[in-house]
Amino acid sequence: MKMSCKEATYAISDRLDRKLGPIEWLKLRTHLFICHYCRDFAKQTQFMRVMVRAARRRRH
Ligand SMILES: [Zn+2]
Repeated sequence: MKMSCKEATYAISDRLDRKLGPIEWLKLRTHLFICHYCRDFAKQTQFMRVMVRAARRRRH
């Protein structure tokens, strides 16, 4: 299941307001890995900071 840029940017904006589910997270992170446009968008929205914080909390 691939995520489109539209879905990805929506999930990024959405992440600032509410928590994403594990499936959404995985899809979004995969998309950010391959798509530099959405990576730039994520940086602009400070999503990366949220993501790093979440990753730290989630270590296992
Ligand atoms: Zn994209």
